[in-house]
Amino acid sequence: MKAGDDTYAGGPGPVRHDVEAVNARRRQALYQPRVKIFPKRTWGTFRKLKWWIMAVTLGIYWITPWIRWDRGPNAPDQAVLVDFANRRFYFFFIEIWPQEFFYVAGLLIMAGLGLFLVTSVAGRAWCGYACPQTVWTDLYIWVERLIEGDRNARMRLDKAPWRVEKIAKRSAVYMAWLVIAICTGGAWVFYFADAPTLFVDLFTGQAAPVAYITVGILTATTFTFAGFMREQVCTYMCPWPRIQGAMLDEDSLLVTYNAWRGEPRSRGQKRTAAEGVEAGDCIDCNACVVVCPMGIDIRDGNQLECITCALCIDACNDIMGKVGRPQGLISYTTLRDYNTHASEAKTSGRAEATARQRTVGVSHVVRPRTLIYAGLWSLIGIIMLFALATRDRLDINVLRDRNPLFVTLSDGSIRNGYTLKILNMLPQRRAFTVSLEGLPAATLWLAGDSEETPTRSIDVEVEPDRLKEIKVFVRQAPEAVEPGAVDVSFLVSGSDGETVSEATEFFAPGQ
Ligand code: SF4
Ligand code: SF4
Repeated sequence: MKAGDDTYAGGPGPVRHDVEAVNARRRQALYQPRVKIFPKRTWGTFRKLKWWIMAVTLGIYWITPWIRWDRGPNAPDQAVLVDFANRRFYFFFIEIWPQEFFYVAGLLIMAGLGLFLVTSVAGRAWCGYACPQTVWTDLYIWVERLIEGDRNARMRLDKAPWRVEKIAKRSAVYMAWLVIAICTGGAWVFYFADAPTLFVDLFTGQAAPVAYITVGILTATTFTFAGFMREQVCTYMCPWPRIQGAMLDEDSLLVTYNAWRGEPRSRGQKRTAAEGVEAGDCIDCNACVVVCPMGIDIRDGNQLECITCALCIDACNDIMGKVGRPQGLISYTTLRDYNTHASEAKTSGRAEATARQRTVGVSHVVRPRTLIYAGLWSLIGIIMLFALATRDRLDINVLRDRNPLFVTLSDGSIRNGYTLKILNMLPQRRAFTVSLEGLPAATLWLAGDSEETPTRSIDVEVEPDRLKEIKVFVRQAPEAVEPGAVDVSFLVSGSDGETVSEATEFFAPGQ
């Protein structure tokens, strides 16, 4: 790092950093060792946005399992809970049963469409701002910077021999990382059991082994991925950089170095001006490279490694302010705008094109492709909301006896047996009436009950949030018996008016 070769507004020029992008072409070998990255701290709009998003996402992750939601005495009071033991998923007022898993599938489709929408508008904004790998790596770098100092101090410490200062600082960093990693793994298991109970159980050794194993695995992966592997996870392990290319078009906003404005770059603009050479706005200070968490140089063009975190925009805007040039040498720009500005720079001159440089506007966001994604996203959301609002809270499943298919009784009547599974999906005990639809002369009774009083319906009570299995027999009088299979349905009616029915068959000898 050294002071700039030029002066601006009477003061020394911005500091120039000696750094090279980790993927610089001349260094590229098939199996090259990792080049350690020590991102420098930066300030600016996008850095602030990233802090806010980090605070919100981490807050949601850590706080959510502790939110309580009263569902009455027969259901858990945790707002968000994946209850594997009882095969339920609770999300505030919504309770999803296994047979309603299509709601989860719908949510996943919406998440996918949302990702497509964000990518087609602003490239890998998900990667740069909200992906867990980015958020936790950012947090780990913040801790590292707090204890070891900014880029240069960290680089010095990294090269220093293992003496007291290095051992003390590195131990403090690793301890802090470990605490964060344990909290990360710990928070995850709270989504799968009552959080306050599991918290105590984890510390008293009473939690299930799977809880300890899960915390252990997530602690190890968080510590390794965010502490040591960092940008390598994004570049080599994540498939998203490869997929995203298909979702970008020439109207997608990407972090772009406006080469039409910055080139030819020069480290001494006043000197080059004095020599009659027209230099671009880039003073080749490398500030954009040293803040990049991926260690790349955005001036080499759009790259697979770029997660569009926009920290290079903040760094360069800061430099442009110092050298008295307009901001936006690196900016969120579409390919179409870039080409327009580049041709304007050729025809009307660089200064004119810079003055007309377009900022992000509504038209970048609202276009046919994004409208289609947003429309599909909204449609699925509306369908799911409608289905949720109108879904049954009662279900029935009928299994007919197959061995024997029927029994001929002493008076010549025919009896068929059925197993009925009645599902009460509300957190209250409910009374139901089970009746027959079809076979007007038939009667039914509960297995174990007497059939002395012929009846067409029986009463059943089902515990809250439970499935009740009952065995019933249906008897057809001899004079009404039809040979072969006859359609019949079981109708279950709740005292609250909810009804469901399921069709089956009644078998008699013949045909
Ligand atoms: S693009 Fe901006 S930050 Fe990067 S080297 Fe040029 S002037 Fe410096
Ligand atoms: S090049 Fe810029 S936007 Fe891309 S990862 Fe580096 S700092 Fe972030």
